[in-house]
Amino acid sequence: MLVPGSLPQSVIFGAEDGHSPSPSSAQRIQAHPADRPDEKRRNGCTIGRAFEAKVEEIPGAKVDRAWTIAMNKRTFIRLFSAMMASPVISPLLARATKDKLSNWAGNLEYSTDRLYSANSLEEVRKYVKKQHKLKVLGTRHCFNNIADSTDNFLSLKPMDELVALDPEAHTVTVHAGMTYGQLCPLLHSKGFALHNLASLPHISIAGAISTATHGSGEKNGNLATAVSALEIVTAAGEVIKLSRQRDGEAFLGAVVGLGALGVITVVTLDIQPSFLMRQYVYENMPLAEMKEHFDTIQSSAYSVSLFTDWQNQRISEIWLKSRVEEGHAFDATPEFFGAQRATKNLHPIAELSAENCTEQMGVPGPWYERLPHFRMGFTPSAGKELQTEYFVPRQNAVEAILAVERLRDQISPHLMISEIRAIAADNLWLSPCYEQPCVTIHFTWKQDWPAVKMLMPLIEKELAPLKARPHWGKLFTMPPAELHSIYKKLPDFIQLSKKYDPHGKFRNEFLGTNIFSS
Ligand SMILES: Cc1cc2nc3c(=O)[nH]c(=O)nc-3n(C[C@H](O)[C@H](O)[C@H](O)COP(=O)(O)OP(=O)(O)OC[C@H]3O[C@@H](n4cnc5c(N)ncnc54)[C@H](O)[C@@H]3O)c2cc1C
Repeated sequence: MLVPGSLPQSVIFGAEDGHSPSPSSAQRIQAHPADRPDEKRRNGCTIGRAFEAKVEEIPGAKVDRAWTIAMNKRTFIRLFSAMMASPVISPLLARATKDKLSNWAGNLEYSTDRLYSANSLEEVRKYVKKQHKLKVLGTRHCFNNIADSTDNFLSLKPMDELVALDPEAHTVTVHAGMTYGQLCPLLHSKGFALHNLASLPHISIAGAISTATHGSGEKNGNLATAVSALEIVTAAGEVIKLSRQRDGEAFLGAVVGLGALGVITVVTLDIQPSFLMRQYVYENMPLAEMKEHFDTIQSSAYSVSLFTDWQNQRISEIWLKSRVEEGHAFDATPEFFGAQRATKNLHPIAELSAENCTEQMGVPGPWYERLPHFRMGFTPSAGKELQTEYFVPRQNAVEAILAVERLRDQISPHLMISEIRAIAADNLWLSPCYEQPCVTIHFTWKQDWPAVKMLMPLIEKELAPLKARPHWGKLFTMPPAELHSIYKKLPDFIQLSKKYDPHGKFRNEFLGTNIFSS
């Protein structure tokens, strides 16, 4: 049996009966943490996140260290045979059967370990033409099975270069394998900035825009709103270019594409002159203050995040990110709606080391070192966790927060932290903020799937009358029919997908269940 709308239970920790995870599988995953080559430190401890790799050299195949994994003889033979069968792919990568390919959090073992890595547009085209079914894998930071494939994965990780910077048009064009962590320092060195970032810079740009990943700030649209053009390889291996200026509705439908339209190979983003920011953190705001002054609090800085564990009627931390410019500066008084200014850097999960977090205490720094909560090169969030997040229309925000707060006794034992953020409206068809400004209520859970599986329907039931929409890349149980009723552009999106992928080459279980099930 599948969890409606989200993750097949069978893939979480390898659940065997479809209801509860098998302890032996759970142990196995814990013993083999997800491959996180870009993270040097985790909550204060130095760790080598990449697997101990024993890679056998394969003639003609350039092995990507980031994806390396212990390879046994069987794998080598399989890899070699696959190379013979697919001579167009170079470098060609495959995973060991022993250590399954999993997502970043380690809660999801992907359904195949057939992973191929392309170096160029031509290689992408040839591979797509050759395969019957495939999914593109970004940096694997989704918690549900949106990126999963039972057949083949294509990685664009080697395609991570800046293609063009156009100072006059205020755009930057990049290859789709690039992460924000790679792009931002480069952009800053040229005097430019992006409008916003997510809590972490580790994620791929293409993967982030495909799921409407967002940061915070009531005037800031999600990260996909910065996209002004896309290059996509369709199921037939053809290259199409869609731009905001030229392609109108088709472009608006394609940007938050859930990986359903094809392989995004190039992305053009809007940029603006670089800016400095200061970040302040306050502690312990009474819930009553938040309720009374929600709008003023949200508009008090460029980006505002409220963290709570739903205990003791309080917001435990308030993160305010302010641009160091006239008209933007935040007046960092010692008290902020009953909360006290922190006297040292903090982690949103109070028990964890702030070493992994971006600089606070009002120290000015470049935009890309303040907009995310977590530093590149360090483990973001907690690491071993699950995440869910719901978007509610801005006008329902306080009601939604109070509805969740009423569930505190059920939620708190299984929660690490919740975060509340505001996002501006946009016009991207499958963005949860389509034509409505939103507030998100996010949950970082302890990695206890049976408990989280029980809690999600409770939360969703409370939030349903408030028109909540789940984050496309996080766990949810909302039935497909409900999703269909709240996304009015879904039928148009299905048509658009069929135009570029008539036979469902890029579809997987997640898309089949949630999008194409009507
Ligand atoms: C610690 C942590 C913190 C997070 N913080 C935030 C946050 O602040 N805000 C927020 O909104 N989300 C957040 N997320 C969620 C995350 O941003 C999204 O899940 C995002 O999609 C991850 O990008 P990815 O490259 O890892 O995607 P993947 O999981 O690899 O893929 C996601 C989807 O994109 C598709 N895709 C990827 N690349 C391409 C391509 N080139 N062409 C076509 N399709 C492609 C995949 O097929 C899949 O459907 C967080 C996740 C983690 C683990």
